[in-house]
Amino acid sequence: MIVRPSALHRTVACPYSLIASVGHDDSESSDDAKLGTCAHSVSEIMLNGGAVEAGEILGGVEVTTEMLDHVGGYVDYLKSLDCELYIERHVDIPRIHPQCSGTPDGVAVGNNVTRVADLKYGRRPVSPVHLPQLIAYASAIGDLIGCDDNHIFELVIYQPRTYSPLGPIKVWRVSWADIKVYAAKIADAVMIAFSDNPHAQTGSHCHYCPIAHKCETLAMASYNAIDIANYPISIDGFNNLNIGQCLENLERAEEVIKLRADALRVEVEERLRMGARIPMYELTPSKGATVWDNPQMVEDVAKIAGVDVFKRSLMTPKQVIKAGISENIIGKLSTKKPGAFKVTRVNNDDATMRFNK
Ligand code: SF4
Repeated sequence: MIVRPSALHRTVACPYSLIASVGHDDSESSDDAKLGTCAHSVSEIMLNGGAVEAGEILGGVEVTTEMLDHVGGYVDYLKSLDCELYIERHVDIPRIHPQCSGTPDGVAVGNNVTRVADLKYGRRPVSPVHLPQLIAYASAIGDLIGCDDNHIFELVIYQPRTYSPLGPIKVWRVSWADIKVYAAKIADAVMIAFSDNPHAQTGSHCHYCPIAHKCETLAMASYNAIDIANYPISIDGFNNLNIGQCLENLERAEEVIKLRADALRVEVEERLRMGARIPMYELTPSKGATVWDNPQMVEDVAKIAGVDVFKRSLMTPKQVIKAGISENIIGKLSTKKPGAFKVTRVNNDDATMRFNK
């Protein structure tokens, strides 16, 4: 059995999930996963000097201009590092487990700093801080290059489709000495996962767990969460700490109920597709877009009718910068509008990344 670096965050948080999810590998099943695989193929081709056009089909998914834009940013970032680049090279990761191996997206080896980068094409924000997947890769690279304890690793998540105040590049700087300590902790968690009775623990890591739909621990947690949500309590007399804790509890309850509902929705959809009848649920087609059958014929018909069917629109400031006009000039011609304020939970990872820049 292979211990996959991309699932290590779940193994660390819930050791039970490692063995329990054997045979339930869902890495290629969802549309989002296919989109991510396509984006990775585009980046690999570009980084190896090839070209990809919008409209090409890779792995059954159509490459869009938006994807080329996003992936282009990642490619530019890696090329700007001016180091020896290793793209999609498979590595064994013995510090984590003899059966642990994987393929880092991009590794840039420098004299004092080595970057280990991962392109995340999903919209769920991922932080590089303490991310077991990147720590595992860094541990393999460190062993391969034989660095000293002060050598710095920059663990990088490039996530272009998710808003972050830090932008698409999130970096966590950590020394080789610390990587070894963190890797040892992950290895301990993997050992527990292989023990006779590993424990299960719910949390946001349940989101992509392939056995979430039949996990009893997640089911129990969601029933407890429903109890919390229904608990009648007045907030009169709450101090600031009480009200913060109460909101945090409810948000955690909301998260666990959503995780369970999402997992069941996937299972219900699968059963409906197999022809099962499930009371209260049915499969209905979503509204599809109307597309041209023959664009050339549309142009011809429009020409005869004297109708201009092409629309011109201004590119966004970001696209114009990418097209070659300097950021300074665009800065003088555009304004970044502040978004509306909203209540958000404090993100300690953002503070860590800002601090260690
Ligand atoms: S759903 Fe959550 S608690 Fe259950 S096995 Fe998966 S990760 Fe563990």
